[in-house]
Amino acid sequence: MRAVRTRSGSLTSLREGNRKRVIDALRARGVASRADLARITGLSRSTISTIVGDLVEAGLAGERDGQASDSDGEVHAGRPPVMVSLNSSAGVALGVDFGHRHLRVAVSDLSHSVLAETWRELDVDHSASHGLDAAADFVAQVLEEAGADRGRVIGVGMGLPAPIDRSSGMVQDASILPGWVGVDAAAEASRRLGMPVEVENDANLGALAELVWGAGKGRSEVAYIKVSTGIGAGLLSGGRLQGGAGGTAGEIGHTLVAEGGPVCRCGNRGCLETLASTRAIAGHMSASRGEEISTRRLLELCAAGDAAAQRLIGDAGRAIGIAVANLCNLLNPECVIVGGDLSAAGDVLLEPLRTVVRRNAIPSAVESLEIVPGVLGERAELLGALALVMHESDRFYASRLESEAG
Ligand SMILES: [Zn+2]
Repeated sequence: MRAVRTRSGSLTSLREGNRKRVIDALRARGVASRADLARITGLSRSTISTIVGDLVEAGLAGERDGQASDSDGEVHAGRPPVMVSLNSSAGVALGVDFGHRHLRVAVSDLSHSVLAETWRELDVDHSASHGLDAAADFVAQVLEEAGADRGRVIGVGMGLPAPIDRSSGMVQDASILPGWVGVDAAAEASRRLGMPVEVENDANLGALAELVWGAGKGRSEVAYIKVSTGIGAGLLSGGRLQGGAGGTAGEIGHTLVAEGGPVCRCGNRGCLETLASTRAIAGHMSASRGEEISTRRLLELCAAGDAAAQRLIGDAGRAIGIAVANLCNLLNPECVIVGGDLSAAGDVLLEPLRTVVRRNAIPSAVESLEIVPGVLGERAELLGALALVMHESDRFYASRLESEAG
């Protein structure tokens, strides 16, 4: 956690520190009752009331009557609690998602409402420079659509479908995103946009998105598995992303599941990706049918009951189950969320996956585990890029917000 800047002695710094805790809690939650804020921050109800009063008076926060279901704090027998959220005058967040074939950009306010959003196709072999030019155009477009001034942007979350070294900001693997290798993506994007930018890989953003908006809502120990052309995991503990020493934690696609198996793009043999990625499955399907089968066609065949498609996807579920069982033994998550393109196969994928996890993990690691599909589909990474700005607040020091509130 960052040190709180002092202005005039310890009382001021204590007050500023408390205000930052309330603002951070509101950014992370979007909407919260005063009781929720007291529980999350550990501050007294009267301190919360003073800080919320100051924020409302400064025009940075608003209050409205809530529903009983809005609050996850204590049970309210009587009137539903008043809910507090930051106003869009307190700032907006930008999300930029580069996929293998698309670019998506969105702007949201700090109560987690998406204000404007747009997308276009973008070839996987695009250069970083071409991609960032397109992103800058889209940023201008969504801000105008939302009626938001550039000066109100508190940060930009940016997703790339590749492992990213946290200290250098560089894309680490030339085989995955060749146009971005050697580019300090966050620094370059920040220079072009004139805004603070943080970069994360797609699986980590999917995990954050499902935590804030989707299947992981209200949970804190979550593993998100993205199964698409590659396979990656986003790991959340205490509601925070776990990046590891260099930001590459979660490369579950390159864990060994078949000794001596097919050669992987990483150079090893028998990695999970070589058996269970959509690229691997569609490859087998194409070979057996003597025609090119896309991921979309594979999923259509599966839904129509094609035996080979269902068998291959079931086998993928079993292979992923081995890796997930190992992950559960190590990390003991409360919830495993399966997202990415292949999650559209539903129980054809998930049932064999669940069976193998129950068979292979130690019982205490999985007795209360839920394995569920992601609910955000192709918008997961974009929403995760927005969530990065709101949730990982120490990576975006909201100086404007805090100075105005002071
Ligand atoms: Zn590999």
